[in-house]
Amino acid sequence: MKFSTLHTHTTFSDGKHTARENIESAIAKDMRSIGFSDHSFTACDPSYCMLLEDYPRYLSELRSLKEEYKGVFPVLVGIEKDYYSEIDKSEFDYVIGSVHYIVRGGVCYPIDHTLAQQQTCVRDAFGGSVLDMARCYFEMVAEHTYLARPDVIGHFDVLNKFSYMPESDDRFIAIAEESLRECLKWCPVVEVNTGGMARGWRSNPYPNMNLLKLVRELGGRVVLNSDSHNKDNLDYAFPEALEYIKSAGFEELDFLTEGGFEATKII
Ligand SMILES: [Zn+2]
Ligand SMILES: [Zn+2]
Repeated sequence: MKFSTLHTHTTFSDGKHTARENIESAIAKDMRSIGFSDHSFTACDPSYCMLLEDYPRYLSELRSLKEEYKGVFPVLVGIEKDYYSEIDKSEFDYVIGSVHYIVRGGVCYPIDHTLAQQQTCVRDAFGGSVLDMARCYFEMVAEHTYLARPDVIGHFDVLNKFSYMPESDDRFIAIAEESLRECLKWCPVVEVNTGGMARGWRSNPYPNMNLLKLVRELGGRVVLNSDSHNKDNLDYAFPEALEYIKSAGFEELDFLTEGGFEATKII
């Protein structure tokens, strides 16, 4: 099965390689297409994202690459929209909706950068309650999905990146599941994301197996994305992730084309 990834970061945000280098790598890997999704501007932490003044250059460079590779290799121009960003959706072929920060009391807490920052957030913003932080995060994911209507729900349970969250606690599971049910009303496509595996944090993709099974039970669909920050990782652990998707009961994987999502039988 030929793979694709819609979740790719370049030197426009915190990726290591240019868009062209990523396209050439995807071609060399015999993938079927590539989509770019650099980080939208977040005022609370401009260190890793695009600045507002970068958007025109991002769009013009990627659109011209898309044109250049037309008929040779499909290129899509998307963005990873953070909860704390405003974007004009009409400028992009697609939008991945993600939550990377919790802002409380004027303090911006990154939730997927380091374990220490996550622990600080729990201590200072949620009185030491991991469950309260989880509730806040998952409510934000649902709210973001409702308000932004992304095309793809990004790394749904990235909060579990450092295995600091009580993933097997019934209360935690209920919080995450309630959010997922709400999200799927507004965006039926969830990404299976191998980014945490590429960085050595997780042995399985996001979302976890229980949540992925719930996506299927609720009639949601899945795309397989690497959340790559390096051209060599565009298809990181994709064969394993495909088995993971199959074991959650999915028989189809979705691929985004110019005409919208197309379901392809998993073989
Ligand atoms: Zn992200
Ligand atoms: Zn990303």
